[in-house]
Amino acid sequence: METILFLAHTESDGSLGQAALESLAAARTLAAGLTGSTLIAGLVGGSVQSAADQIAGCGATRILGVAAADFASSRYSTDVVAVEALARAAAATIVIAPATSRWNRVLAGAAQRLDGRIDAHATGITAADGKPGLTRWYYRQRMEAVVQRTRRPWFILLEAGCAAAWNGPAGTAAVESVAAPLTDANRRTIVTGVQAPPTDQQTIRPDAKLLFVAGAGWTKAQPDGKAHSVEAEEIILDFLGKTKASLGSTKSLVDLSGEGQAVLKFMTHLNQVGQTGSTPRHPKGLATCCHGEEPHTVGWRFINERRAINLNPNCSWAQGKADVLYVADAFVVMRKVNALLAAK
Ligand SMILES: Cc1cc2nc3c(=O)[nH]c(=O)nc-3n(C[C@H](O)[C@H](O)[C@H](O)COP(=O)(O)OP(=O)(O)OC[C@H]3O[C@@H](n4cnc5c(N)ncnc54)[C@H](O)[C@@H]3O)c2cc1C
Repeated sequence: METILFLAHTESDGSLGQAALESLAAARTLAAGLTGSTLIAGLVGGSVQSAADQIAGCGATRILGVAAADFASSRYSTDVVAVEALARAAAATIVIAPATSRWNRVLAGAAQRLDGRIDAHATGITAADGKPGLTRWYYRQRMEAVVQRTRRPWFILLEAGCAAAWNGPAGTAAVESVAAPLTDANRRTIVTGVQAPPTDQQTIRPDAKLLFVAGAGWTKAQPDGKAHSVEAEEIILDFLGKTKASLGSTKSLVDLSGEGQAVLKFMTHLNQVGQTGSTPRHPKGLATCCHGEEPHTVGWRFINERRAINLNPNCSWAQGKADVLYVADAFVVMRKVNALLAAK
């Protein structure tokens, strides 16, 4: 009989974010699939009451909280104490948490303290034949495995975007306060603030409906014999500004900066999609000036509808990798698209 702890931290406004609500849905489904199991919620934050109220109707038998100013911000040394305290208070055998940057840093350490085990990058959590299991991808999303463990407690970090977020009724929740005693050493690191680019300069947008990929072609010599990198930048930024699409890149394009060539200034290796880059999840994708080679397109595993614009009718997108290939000049097409968007 499993005791499932749904573990979440609050966002800066005290609420639970989308990824946390997705993990809650997964934890509820697992609890429903395992006869005799118990679902408990554990919350960490500066204050957790509004987060607890937000999930008051989720069916958890208890809502535990570690709340104090010390737990408001992400900090390994205090978060690990809070997680350990919550897992012990719940006597959790399975801990399900969203794979946020905050939990990704902490949960392996907490599992070690509890002599448990952890699996990260889970994309699904299942109950088959009365046994819990998780699915995750290996070898850059080429193979999917189902993982089961007998060791407890078992920590599972669930990737964002893999479950529909729980959106049940809010209410007034009774939170059981759990003590997480800290020493001065735990408080040695002080979070003095957060530096983040303004939203309109933030080009990686996991929640966007569209992934827009820019390839090295944007910086290459065009039919007039010249490169047009400045114009490429303008066209791409204009499109991103109008659509709020997420910006992906090929390796060739981001590597060019290392070679001192003219590149798109807002592009970094964080934008790289592919075998040695990321595997984002978006309903649609549009590749521009990108050849569509396998090490790149393997990162498109979770992009459902795929289109590409390339001058070359024999590019790799034409080999069954795109639903639609526009054999056209991306400069011309995207300028036209931007004009149509502006006229809307
Ligand atoms: C071990 C390994 C790991 C790798 N990992 C990755 C990875 O994670 N991600 C990744 O992206 N790559 C990766 N690569 C590199 C990958 O194989 C390709 O080299 C890379 O994706 C090519 O990038 P590209 O398509 O932008 O550039 P190119 O191959 O130079 O293609 C540019 C394209 O732009 C088109 N073009 C030019 N001008 C226009 C225009 N005006 N309009 C329309 N089209 C135009 C051209 O026809 C051409 O098809 C990896 C390679 C290896 C060996």
